[in-house]
Amino acid sequence: MSLQKKPRIYSLSELDLSTDNLDRHAVSITHRLAKAGFEAYLVGGCVRDLLLGLHPKDFDVSTNAEPEQIQALFKNCRLIGRRFRLAHIHFGRHIIEVATFRAPHTKEDESSRAHKDGRLLRDNVYGSLQEDAWRRDFTVNALYLDPQNSTVIDYVGGIEDHQKKVLTLMGNPVTRFKEDPVRLIRAVRFKAKLGFTIDPKTEAPMQKLAPLLKDIPSARLYDEVLKLFLNTEANQVFDTLRQYGLFKALFPQTDSCLHDASETEPLALIKQAMKNTESRLKNNQRITPYFLLATLLWEPVRRLSEKYAPNLNSETQALHAAANEVVLQQVSRIAIPRRITTPMREVWTLQPRFHKQVGVRCLRFLEHPRFRAAYDFMLLRAQHGEVDSSIADWWTHIQTLNPAEQKLMTRPSQMKQKKKARKKEPSTPGSA
Ligand code: ATP
Ligand code: MG
Repeated sequence: MSLQKKPRIYSLSELDLSTDNLDRHAVSITHRLAKAGFEAYLVGGCVRDLLLGLHPKDFDVSTNAEPEQIQALFKNCRLIGRRFRLAHIHFGRHIIEVATFRAPHTKEDESSRAHKDGRLLRDNVYGSLQEDAWRRDFTVNALYLDPQNSTVIDYVGGIEDHQKKVLTLMGNPVTRFKEDPVRLIRAVRFKAKLGFTIDPKTEAPMQKLAPLLKDIPSARLYDEVLKLFLNTEANQVFDTLRQYGLFKALFPQTDSCLHDASETEPLALIKQAMKNTESRLKNNQRITPYFLLATLLWEPVRRLSEKYAPNLNSETQALHAAANEVVLQQVSRIAIPRRITTPMREVWTLQPRFHKQVGVRCLRFLEHPRFRAAYDFMLLRAQHGEVDSSIADWWTHIQTLNPAEQKLMTRPSQMKQKKKARKKEPSTPGSA
């Protein structure tokens, strides 16, 4: 694809877009900027999603006004960002991001701005609308909606690609992926989210370039990784990441556990967790990132704890030691914050407590703030043969009882009697 000089202009009506679906705050920002003599458009994901009839997560504005000029026009504006200054315009808790047109990096300034392997380190040169379109990632993300004239401006063939449902990375795909390897995982996410295919030229180098993801600062990857898995297409994203070797670059410890074709359960457990996430999201139920990340990293933790167990006093200690090591290695790749790793560890290290079904400790466990998550995790393990189903049933049952009944159920004598009864009647199923 070549850099087109003249844009194609589409009217909103010809694209079946209605101004009713636009965010009124974002539109009012473009009006005010236009009144002050600037160009201002809605851009990126919001235009792409509106064309698909989806409800955009956020509306971004792009303008030729520079950050200080934007700030002078809006009282509710704060400038943020070091690598590239952006204006945030606040409407209560709602924030609209307003960015000044940026130019893509050129051959001439490449040496001063790009890393030796082609990765862009600085990205702070203002540009024209056309240049701003060109520096974006996929053509369908480079469409500009002009609320003043009720049109969409397309410099890059984004509308055609949108109609063909194809993701095309602009420019030379190898150069553009090298410039910012995060685009590799964005391609996978958008493919799943939008139900698009990846253009063959864009797709061709993806597998080979997947290892470049390792060079992305871990802090930047956390948000992108959450976006990958906390959506209604998590399973497809997971499979596609593995297909391109991207999962290995993100979760190397887990990936190496999944190569053993004879062991299908660890993979099945992760896929089940993704499926549960998908259906919870479809039912508007709450999802917690730590639970999904705990399932993603469980197999390396489990294997390492088995290795440590003979030298430590308890299964719990072995799990603690394994969790420390796995988390330490993982956060060097993806900066999972401590508020997430702490409950992840708890979910793992509480697992041995499900094997004790006697005494007050057992009753106290029911009151533990992380009991519910640990229990859900144990159920997932039971579904995949890691925990005896009678244990899972016992914990499911005890939660339905009142405190007096629970006390009775966890009395030592109760357990002995149950064991005796089981010995007499070996054919009786062991569920409580
Ligand atoms: P969503 O909000 O659904 O995640 P989005 O396309 O809006 O999708 P954002 O991360 O919000 O994604 O980015 C907004 C826009 O900024 C994109 O549509 C794209 O035009 C541009 N953009 C984002 N990340 C990159 C990147 N790594 N390289 C080039 N352009 C990018
Ligand atoms: Mg967005």
